[in-house]
Amino acid sequence: MTDHREPLPSVLETIGETPLVRVHDSPDAVPVYAKLESFNPGASIKDRIGKYMLERMLEDGTLEPGGTVIEPTAGNTGIGIAVAAEQLDVDAVFVVPERFSVEKQQLMRALGADVINTPSEDGMGYAIERAHELSEELDGAVVPQQFSNPLNAEAHYATTAPEIDEALDGAVGAVVAGCGTAGTLMGMAEYFRERDAETHVVAVEPAGSAYREFFGEDVDHEEYKTEGIGTHDIETNELFDPDLVDDVHAIPDRKVHEEMARLAREEGQLVASSAAANSIAAKQVARAIADGTIDAPHDAVVTVFADSSERYLSKGVYRSFEEWTG
Ligand code: PMP
Repeated sequence: MTDHREPLPSVLETIGETPLVRVHDSPDAVPVYAKLESFNPGASIKDRIGKYMLERMLEDGTLEPGGTVIEPTAGNTGIGIAVAAEQLDVDAVFVVPERFSVEKQQLMRALGADVINTPSEDGMGYAIERAHELSEELDGAVVPQQFSNPLNAEAHYATTAPEIDEALDGAVGAVVAGCGTAGTLMGMAEYFRERDAETHVVAVEPAGSAYREFFGEDVDHEEYKTEGIGTHDIETNELFDPDLVDDVHAIPDRKVHEEMARLAREEGQLVASSAAANSIAAKQVARAIADGTIDAPHDAVVTVFADSSERYLSKGVYRSFEEWTG
């Protein structure tokens, strides 16, 4: 384990070992804990996969030093990859649908990466296609493709989950996490289900997103403001394994907006919309365990707060609901 108090050779060594903090507004008997991922150097959970995927790909020769990675991303993965790429002598190009946060795109560029925008209405599916096209045009280019790359989930199996397990001394009864690629949830679910097959696993998505289609539900696809989680096309979410998931909670933007404000005001937590959705769902699960509706092998419910609200201030996250969604 890296001791962050010792002098470190590079910023890569500061990735992971983030704090795990109690969410106050959860039942005493079934506490909710959130892993604060904005403590990473690129300020999100995606630093973990940026470092992990690039290091593994350089080790097995999929990627050569001096090569290029081209990744379709909403932004945080781009920042995470860009932080690692510079240190590992790799060039980075990101394909980002326009609607994602301007701050994130500026940070990717500041870290030395190229950013290519695709039309918002064409969705992430088109960004993925474009990344593959570009990689064919460029020698030594590789698309890590976080939506289908098992290394994405493996990064959380190898780092996020064991860190939580150690901090709580094996007392994790339920794992709750919003799904974008689903790498976070799948890596954690696999780890904790191996520890105890009864661990309760809940996926979180914004209302209007289609993850529930994996379970045969009909979903009215609607736009949502909650950023970084959800899908409109489950074909692209290749990592998601419904067998590892007990339930999906769909959280409406309005509740997310309220919870972002509450977390800031009452808990000093400047976290973004996906964290607020996770907080709501994790508390729902904690209450269900407390009242006996759900069985879980231990009392603690864990989730992640993937990034900070500072990255979304220009989107009006702390203004009125109408201003945020308008
Ligand atoms: N929250 C935010 C802010 C994100 O950027 C992402 C990744 N898109 C997630 C949550 C979801 O993480 P994952 O891709 O591992 O499902």
